[in-house]
This record gives sequence, C-alpha cells and structure tokens, in this order.
Amino acid sequence: MTTKPVILAVDDDREVLGAVERDLRRQYRQRHRIVAAASGAQALETARELKRRGAPVALFLVDQRMPDMTGTQLLGQLRALFPDTKRALLTAYADTSAAIAAINEVGVDHYLLKPWDPPEQCLYPVLDDLLADWTAHAVLPFDGLRVVGSRWSPQSFATRDFLSRNQVPYQWVDLDEDAQMRALVLEGRDATPPLPVVLLQDGRMLVAPSNAELAATVGLQTVARPFYDLVVVGGGPAGLACAVYGASEGLKVLLVEQNAPGGQAGTSSMIENYLGFPNGVTGADLARRAATQARRFGTEILVGHAVVGLRREDPYRIVELANGTEVACHALMLASGMAAVKELAVPGAERLVGAGVYYGAALSEAAMYRGQHVHVLGGANSAGQGALFFSRYAERVTMIVRKPTLSPQMSQYLVDRIAYTANIEVVGDSEITAVYGTDHLECLDLHNAETGETRTVPASALFVFIGVAPRTEAFRPLVATDDKGFILTGADAREAARGWGPAREPMMFETSVPGVFAAGDIRANANRRIAAAVGEGSAAIFSVHQYLRGV
Ligand SMILES: Cc1cc2nc3c(=O)[nH]c(=O)nc-3n(C[C@H](O)[C@H](O)[C@H](O)COP(=O)(O)OP(=O)(O)OC[C@H]3O[C@@H](n4cnc5c(N)ncnc54)[C@H](O)[C@@H]3O)c2cc1C
Repeated sequence: MTTKPVILAVDDDREVLGAVERDLRRQYRQRHRIVAAASGAQALETARELKRRGAPVALFLVDQRMPDMTGTQLLGQLRALFPDTKRALLTAYADTSAAIAAINEVGVDHYLLKPWDPPEQCLYPVLDDLLADWTAHAVLPFDGLRVVGSRWSPQSFATRDFLSRNQVPYQWVDLDEDAQMRALVLEGRDATPPLPVVLLQDGRMLVAPSNAELAATVGLQTVARPFYDLVVVGGGPAGLACAVYGASEGLKVLLVEQNAPGGQAGTSSMIENYLGFPNGVTGADLARRAATQARRFGTEILVGHAVVGLRREDPYRIVELANGTEVACHALMLASGMAAVKELAVPGAERLVGAGVYYGAALSEAAMYRGQHVHVLGGANSAGQGALFFSRYAERVTMIVRKPTLSPQMSQYLVDRIAYTANIEVVGDSEITAVYGTDHLECLDLHNAETGETRTVPASALFVFIGVAPRTEAFRPLVATDDKGFILTGADAREAARGWGPAREPMMFETSVPGVFAAGDIRANANRRIAAAVGEGSAAIFSVHQYLRGV
C-alpha cells in the first residue's frame, strides 16, 4: 500500500493547533496523514523520525511566533531534512514583514494570515495549490514505474530526464548498487542489456526505450490526426502560449514536442521575474500549468516526437515527424527555441556527457550529487539559477566564469543571492581546459587567464551553461534564416521570400513562407525571455487568424 504523504502542522498554542488539525483533517485526511507538533523542537524530532522511516512529507504549516524558535528558523532547519517539501508560514497581521523576510530567507512558498474563516475560502485553495505542486513531482515510495540503470549511463539520464520533465513519477534503481535488481535484469541473458531497463507495473520490461516508446507506455498522447488548423512545433513558453490562445479561440491545434512541455523555461529551478508569481515559480510548475491550460482548451500535445522536416503543398503545410508520419495543417507555428550546443570543446568532455558532464540544468540529477562537490560553467542567469538550485543538495558548488566576477552578465538579484549562499564559490577569470574520468567525471583542469596557472581539481559533476543555438536545422530548407540560423519574420523576411505568392507582405510573425509563423527564441532579433516568448506566441495568433481567413 502507498504511504500517505504527511502534512505537519506546528503551533505552540494548543487551542489553535487543535483548530488547524481539525480543518486539515476535514479536507485532506483521505490523501494525507495529518501530524501535529506543539513546538519547534517537537516538530524537528517528528521530522527526523519521518525521515528515518522514509515517509514522504508534502507540507509544513508552521506558526511564526513560537517561544523556542521562530517559524522561519524552524522552516530553515526543516528544509535541510526535506528540501522539496512545501513550506507555509502562519502569521498574525502584525507579522507580515516577518513573513516577507521568510520568503527571502528560507524560500517559504506561502504565508497565511490567521485566523482563516471560512477555510473553504481562505485556507483550502492555497493548500490545494501547494499540495498539487508537490504531488506533481514527488517521487513517492510506490510500486509503479521503475527505471533501472547506471548512474553513469547517458541514456539512463535521458530517460529519467524525459520522465521527470513530463511529470511521470518513477523509482530510480541503480544497477551498480542493487544486486537483486541486477539478477532480475540479467535473468536469461549473457550480458547486461543496453540501459536503462524500464520495469512496468504489469511486469513488462522495456530495454533502452526511445522517448516516443516511453510516452506511449505512460499514457501520453503519441498519435496525431491527419489534419489541424494549426500545428505548433515546440512546447516551450512561446508554443504553449500560442496553443492556449489558438485553441481557446476555436482553432483545432496540435502541439508537437520532442521532449517535454516547458522548453528551456521548464528546466529553470526558479523563475523570479515572470509576472504574477511574486515568490517565483519553478520551470516545472509553470510548464505543468501551461500544458494543463492548453489541453483544457482542446490542444492535442504530442510528446516524444521530433519534427524532422517541413513541406509546402498549397494550401497545406506538411509537418514530417521522426517516426515517418506526416501531419497537414493550414497554418504552422515554429517555436522550437534554442538548445545548449553540446560543444564543451575540451579533451574528455564528449565521452563524459551524461556521466558527470551535463548540458543545461539537469535538475533530475541534483539529488544524486547530495553532499558532493559540483561545478557550474557559465555566468548567465541560467547558470546562476542552476548554482542556487544545486547548492540545496551539493556540499559545495563552484561557479566558473570567464569574467573576473559574475555581475556583468547576471541579474543583480541572482548575484546577491549567490553572494549570500555560503556553499557557492565563484572562480573568476577562469575556464575549463580538460575533463577526466574513467567511466564518469572525476576531475577537471581549471585555467586562470590572469595568472596563467592551470590546476587539476576533483569534481563530481559539471553542469555546462554556455553556448546555445537556435533549433532550426529541420526548417532551414523551407524558411529563411539569418546567418546564425535564427528565423526571419515580418519585414526581415521580405527580401528572402522568393516564390512567396500572396499579394501582400509577410505579417509580423510570418516567415518567408506564407502561413508559416515563428515565435520566441527561435526568431531573429527576439528578446530571449519567458515573458517575451509568451507574448510572441499569444500575439502571433492574431496573424494566424488573418491568414486563415484567406485560405
Ligand atoms: C536554465 C534556464 C533558466 C532560465 N531562466 C529564465 C528566467 O528566469 N526568466 C526569463 O525570462 N527567461 C529565462 N530563461 C530563458 C527562457 O527560458 C527562454 O527565453 C524561453 O524558454 C524561450 O521560449 P521558447 O518557447 O521560444 O523556446 P524553448 O523554451 O527553447 O522551447 C522550445 C521547445 O521546442 C522543442 N523542440 C525543439 N525542436 C523541436 C523539433 N524539431 N520537434 C519538436 N519539438 C522541438 C524543445 O524540446 C523545447 O521544448 C531561462 C533559460 C534557461 C535555459
């Protein structure tokens, strides 16, 4: 039987604690175990016991004013034990400033003003939202999907990343550390099969499955119809926004995503500058919300399939998928964004990708490096967010930047946050010149451009946040791009629009081919931010409607 995730309520006022407990039980006892503690010390003892038993904890609901320690101090200590548990602080009106400080100091997810009456209006909606967020990426001790692989196999990493980014819960089993599982996987075989092996609830075993195979197995949509009004390529913020607006305005929309909805934004550990989320929002949460919203309006989201080619067969635009199938549409939106270029051009790097060397924010790997020393290469915002996220798990995080300090490239709030995080160090004027390891990363060479010195330092993991390029290879034969591969639109596409056709010029987000639009990071001269991508994806629908009126 699955263990019910715990909600731990803490208040030194026994009468209030009783009332909190009563309200929690009324609403959540079916799916959660409600545990109460009457002091900070008791709460810590309870949390340690839960940790020892491996019990999942979904939410801490903690009073700010307690005699032995403040709620903020307690949440800080609880975070060390349960980093992923949602944290809500209970305050009286007079404590609002303390609550705001708590948001900044210990990353409180929400603060609630006491008393709440009625709870249906003032308490449950907030807790429902927090618990849904937690449930979306909790790895519960359950008897469902198990991914069996080696920590150092790149394909094992890719499978874990695909599942976690699609919010599919799974249990990870390291073959190197589990003799029973090794025996199970080897049964009837002479050698270890290609990894990972995915064990399904019904007893089936998938050997090194592709994303498409995994998607079909876990119940994600993998089959499209032959025709749609609009096909969107790419499920990042631009593609999702386009799908939401397109579908909500009555279009039959298909969104094709090769990996998971969310795109680059989905890999962000904490987005703090997106409008409407004053406490920040994780990329995974934003992606989940946006994909849910798109589906609710009727968008079909095809996951695990890459678009490998496009054709124009007036009045249709044809999208070719990697599995050989084709989908026709009247209007096509290209929103495939940018990706890290897997070119850390130093000796040893290529061989160790996925085995200690990762491109971008491989959030699913963070817990594997608990208590270890990880390196982050790059000085832009994404590297800063990555470093802060990894600092919650790793013992030490070293950021390596070419410039003397972080500040010229990074938002000030991240620079400040990093400065206050004791286990992050910034090594300036430096670059990595080689990485070493037999079957996984063990150390790297750090060259200091100022002193000319090169040091070899031990490293458990290296997260690379440098070098991104537009993902337009599959579209280039059809639509015009600039010399860096970004897609030309509107007035910029006019010159390149040979064989164009209609007696008008390309509209604002239209490419050099009528009816083919582009939005987000993939577009030449785009402002590469989440809000900008969302804005472009939404605004481009206006041009799509105008185009469709003439088809
Ligand atoms: C770690 C990180 C943190 C960031 N933090 C912030 C932040 O805090 N604030 C901010 O404003 N910006 C931030 N950014 C930048 C922001 O995420 C991007 O500007 C934004 O995601 C661009 O959205 P997009 O939809 O244009 O493209 P992407 O987000 O790149 O999405 C494109 C999608 O298309 C899919 N795709 C690509 N090719 C194909 C194909 N051939 N077939 C099918 N699917 C395909 C990809 O898998 C991807 O999911 C961050 C970026 C990173 C990497």
